[in-house]
Amino acid sequence: MQLADKVAIVTGGDSGIGQAITLAMAREGARVMIDYYGDVAPADALVEQIENFGGKATAFAADVSKPDEVDALVMETVRHFGGVDILVNNAGIEHKVAFLHTPFELYRKVIDINLTGVWLCSQRAALEMVKQKRGGRIINISSVHEELAMPTNAPYCASKGGVRMLMRTIAVELAEHGITVNDVCPGAVDTPMDAKLKSNRDEYNRLLSEIPLRRMAKPEEIAGLCVFLSSAAGAYVTGASYIIDGGLTKQSGSL
Ligand code: NAD
Repeated sequence: MQLADKVAIVTGGDSGIGQAITLAMAREGARVMIDYYGDVAPADALVEQIENFGGKATAFAADVSKPDEVDALVMETVRHFGGVDILVNNAGIEHKVAFLHTPFELYRKVIDINLTGVWLCSQRAALEMVKQKRGGRIINISSVHEELAMPTNAPYCASKGGVRMLMRTIAVELAEHGITVNDVCPGAVDTPMDAKLKSNRDEYNRLLSEIPLRRMAKPEEIAGLCVFLSSAAGAYVTGASYIIDGGLTKQSGSL
């Protein structure tokens, strides 16, 4: 058990990559607070699944872009599990629209959830970690798009680019408290977020042709990296962006 006695918060922990991280951390002995947004049923089902294998988890509704809801999420985690050791900023959205036609409200929504949400959760959880005086881990589920441009996805790319510099800066600031901060940057992962892409055969085949490993990642493969970064083995890693993309960003295409 690599995470025995640890308490983890996973935002958007009831779906896709977040669900896989929640399960992987619970299997490694962490007690997991599943932050969900919207329907409670998937989070409840996940809590039941975890309890069935002897793990511990609970769920709490919080919109990561709302300071008071983030505050309540962290307070409830401390009340329920007695502290917080690991924060996984996983919640995120994307809406693909050409830059020239992107409404301001859509831009603001993506930034609010993907970037401001990471800011709010990280600050609130870090304050708790500092108070506890036993260090901590903050892991952002960023994206290859913290570095790689994606036409029609400017707000998403801007949000992930922002997460990258937020991560680097607070990694330096929080080091003296024994808190590490890192980004996990997936390429294409087989989750509900990419369901639309997968349903278009031509687009899907084009994507696979651009990935040297010729497949999307499984959410469990992203979760494995998060467990490593949360474990004793990952203690010296901070301020890093881990690309996990099957080689996508390293191939040069026709050049
Ligand atoms: P997903 O849609 O399955 O999960 C997103 C989660 O975020 C859901 O649980 C959703 O309820 C939650 N969420 C949305 N708005 C929220 C809010 N305001 N407050 C709290 N939670 C909210 O998608 P996913 O693919 O599992 O994405 C998870 C993360 O991984 C995202 O940050 C995404 O940018 C990143 N990512 C995904 C891929 C991919 O190919 N799927 C690739 C790179 C990065």
